[in-house]
Amino acid sequence: MSTKDYLEKDYYAVLGVPKTATAEEIKKAYRKLARQYHPDANQGSTETESKFKEVSEAYDVLSDAKRRKEYDEARALFGSGVGSYAGGSGGSRGGGFPFDFGDLFGGTGGGAQSGGTGERIGDIFGGLFNRGGGQRTTSTTRPRRGQDIESEVSLSFTEAAEGTTVSLRLTTSSACTACTGTGAKAGTTPRVCPTCEGTGAASRNLGNFAFSEPCRDCKGRGLLVDDPCPVCDGSGRGKSTRTIQARIPAGVGDGQRIRLKAKGAPGENGGPAGDLYVQIHVKAHSVFGRSGENLTITVPVTFAEAALGAEIRVPVLKGLPVTVRIPEGTPNGRTFRVRGRGVTRKDGTKGDLLVTVEVTVPQQLDDKARTLLSEYRDVTSGADPRAELIQQARSE
Ligand SMILES: [Zn+2]
Ligand SMILES: [Zn+2]
Repeated sequence: MSTKDYLEKDYYAVLGVPKTATAEEIKKAYRKLARQYHPDANQGSTETESKFKEVSEAYDVLSDAKRRKEYDEARALFGSGVGSYAGGSGGSRGGGFPFDFGDLFGGTGGGAQSGGTGERIGDIFGGLFNRGGGQRTTSTTRPRRGQDIESEVSLSFTEAAEGTTVSLRLTTSSACTACTGTGAKAGTTPRVCPTCEGTGAASRNLGNFAFSEPCRDCKGRGLLVDDPCPVCDGSGRGKSTRTIQARIPAGVGDGQRIRLKAKGAPGENGGPAGDLYVQIHVKAHSVFGRSGENLTITVPVTFAEAALGAEIRVPVLKGLPVTVRIPEGTPNGRTFRVRGRGVTRKDGTKGDLLVTVEVTVPQQLDDKARTLLSEYRDVTSGADPRAELIQQARSE
């Protein structure tokens, strides 16, 4: 049974049954016609003999649940009632190919596939029509998920913390637009390979074993191109670039890989689209750091502020600086938490801003400051900050 047979012959019409006919109805219709056209009953009329063959052939396919399914799928995929099918005799008939290769290959997406169009066509035809050795069991008309696509994006610190929408240019391999994936020069059509009758497979017998291998003449494609498309050199494949808007959620971190569901290559045969994976790069900020959902910042405070306590102004990622109260006797390196000024969480709430104080030492002192600081030193000279340390070191 060849591709051509499946596409050209309407077995339901031959048996005079609807496409929805049950196995019993098909059997009944066949019996009636077989009796009517049986050669024994017609004294060798060639017309009824060919009619009998036609009926038998139709029944062969439709009575076998698996073959009937393949037949239905083939016709659903390529369209039925295609009298203009450019069959094995070669050459185009101007009417064009009865099915659109663009539909078949337009959605295959990502460039990571190992095979070119040739292999894919071979796969489709092979899966549907090649029954040699029963090795191919997968039907390619089943819905197939689109390919996952990898991409990457560079974000500013703020964009990563707050979330943003970016434009991503995605390059995927798809059907060549010049030839809509047929590989044949525009205006011409590929013809069904006469060697394998479009199955793309040749079977070889080795003693008791028959195995199938890709047809040598068409390299498993099932089709021959006499006039290759100059754009894709007959491969049928081209690169297509599309730009999508991708929503990057707030709170992504540098080096993270996020998955955007169904933003990858479109599916085939009604299958779902693949996913888009985006590798995130986040530029460092000169002021803020990140610790999960919290932002971090180190702020300098004077010795006096730390010792006496103070209200200090601290910058935030977005908006006016906030005031943080430093209590009396704040040690160097203590961290204060400003709630709700961190990284946006999934639920829209925000993490915190963690403010770490760093006591600074003045590099220059005017006379008055020097005098007062000396005075301070004198009045505090009784308290040696290292006394305990020295004591500890001795006792060990
Ligand atoms: Zn092309
Ligand atoms: Zn072939």
